[in-house]
Amino acid sequence: MTFELTCPICQRTFTAEHGSAKYCSDRCRDIAKQRTQKAWRKAHPNYHKEWKEKNPGYYLEYARAYRKAQKEREEAINKLIKKENRND
Ligand SMILES: [Zn+2]
Repeated sequence: MTFELTCPICQRTFTAEHGSAKYCSDRCRDIAKQRTQKAWRKAHPNYHKEWKEKNPGYYLEYARAYRKAQKEREEAINKLIKKENRND
């Protein structure tokens, strides 16, 4: 069974194998997705700012974990350098 549907983005009529299909093509689906995201951001302009305020420790913890990993990388490199120097 096929369905005759109208794409809400380009208004073209297309044939779909599922009645739940919405858009005629991947391109129109992408456009719809972008529009939805843009509308969402417009409706929630301070979402990220408010999220940060509600989760004040998140970035601090992230930075702390990053510095720790960075330090471990440096130590590993220094160990390798020391090892190389010993072999000279
Ligand atoms: Zn379309």
